[in-house]
Amino acid sequence: MQTAAPIPFDNSYARLPERFHARLEPKSVAKPSLIALNEQLAESLRLNSQWLRSADGVAMLAGNHVPPGAEPLAMAYAGQQFGHWSPQLGDGRALLLGEVIGEDGRRHDIQLKGSGPTPFSRQGDGRSWLGPVLREYIVSEAMHALGVPTTRALAAVATGESVMREQVLPGAVFARVARAHLRVGTFQYFAIRSDVDALEKLADYAIQRLYPQAQSAADLLAAVIEAQAKLVARWMSLGFIHGVMNTDNVSIAGETIDYGPCAFMDAYHANRVFSSIDEGGRYAYSNQPKVAHWNLVQFAQALLPLLGETEEAQIAAAQKAVDRFPATYEAESARLMNAKLGLASSQEGDSQLVGDLLAIMQDEQADFTLTFRRLGSDRFRGEFLDLARIDSWLERWHERVQAEGVSEADLAERLRCANPAFIARNHRVEETIAAALKDDLEPFHRLNRALQNPFIDQPDDADLMLAPEPNQVVRYTFCGT
Ligand code: AMP
Ligand code: MG
Repeated sequence: MQTAAPIPFDNSYARLPERFHARLEPKSVAKPSLIALNEQLAESLRLNSQWLRSADGVAMLAGNHVPPGAEPLAMAYAGQQFGHWSPQLGDGRALLLGEVIGEDGRRHDIQLKGSGPTPFSRQGDGRSWLGPVLREYIVSEAMHALGVPTTRALAAVATGESVMREQVLPGAVFARVARAHLRVGTFQYFAIRSDVDALEKLADYAIQRLYPQAQSAADLLAAVIEAQAKLVARWMSLGFIHGVMNTDNVSIAGETIDYGPCAFMDAYHANRVFSSIDEGGRYAYSNQPKVAHWNLVQFAQALLPLLGETEEAQIAAAQKAVDRFPATYEAESARLMNAKLGLASSQEGDSQLVGDLLAIMQDEQADFTLTFRRLGSDRFRGEFLDLARIDSWLERWHERVQAEGVSEADLAERLRCANPAFIARNHRVEETIAAALKDDLEPFHRLNRALQNPFIDQPDDADLMLAPEPNQVVRYTFCGT
């Protein structure tokens, strides 16, 4: 017997005017089978995990069945990709199924990625292969466990079909949850068309859904700038490199979105790049705050018609908002980096202390995650060869910690809570993908499990914590299609 409406969809985006999206059904796949279901997330969205695991549930997650209440649509958006303007991108391999209200009282999108071609597909096939689906699953859930705002992984389903990339690979569909799939590029799509009516409706929608305290487009702009500044500060504090910070990949909700060739750094280097297509290093680690600022300037530009009566007033309002980015970022970054050193207060000289440690780490190619994790323990010095140099830094750090008046036990606890043991290491992610290609999903599930508690030492999974051996290092990640 089939239940009437297994998912209580309530689709606000589908109620926006037709030009915001293209309605279409996902394209069925040959033989869907469930790879992973995030039951905790499902419950928090009031979804029935048992139903999601059923034949109908898996069929929905694969795009083979559109359940009652779902209104699948591809969202329209534009964007600057590596600085090059594209007036029309849109969901080329994704469909928004609909929205649900979670236990948190908030509205959440359920989107299928890899669900077949749409009017926005251009040359693409609308599909995904297994690798990027598993990568996004692992990394987005790891980010969530690390306390970073992010889209979430609801499920991964194998399609039983092949997709053609550089080679023939198994296909998969990823079910993703977001507070909203609104992007800077969504606003740009209407701005470039001088569709002020749509811009107004979109801004009102974003305010209502994400920033109800905002009274105006200027407030919305300020809220998004703050959310993005804090988000990128979090990435930086974890050595995370997004890899494709195009304006279509910048979420208005302030969540990390569109995990492609992303990675966490192992050995620290300020200019680290992973993406195989980022030849100029536009989205290198240390460029991320600058790029985020640039992306938000594009957002402000798209909002201009809503920011005042005259052009002068509009530009002044936009400028004022974007000028707040650097200070907001710096303050959040200082707070997070200080926390990594066990410091709850801030003093002059702290950023020098942080910067000097990073400089030593860079010269010594020290592992970003383990170095911080081992600060305060005997193992810390083991990360370095030039002991005189690190000892002199340690002396300054001890002196600074004294000023906090914190007990040794509390300091250890502070350090443990600010510095994860586990990140989604690139070589481990690649390993799980390689195993999955041989039908072995155990490494995927194991890695995923360990990453759910990144701040807790997990002796059984200690190998997943370690930096790669020289022969295990993965230098490049490929674009997530
Ligand atoms: P992303 O890499 O997710 O930021 O995607 C950039 C743009 O390329 C978006 O408009 C996607 O919908 C589109 N795209 C990426 N891969 C595919 C694909 N396999 N088929 C169709 N469109 C795609
Ligand atoms: Mg994208």
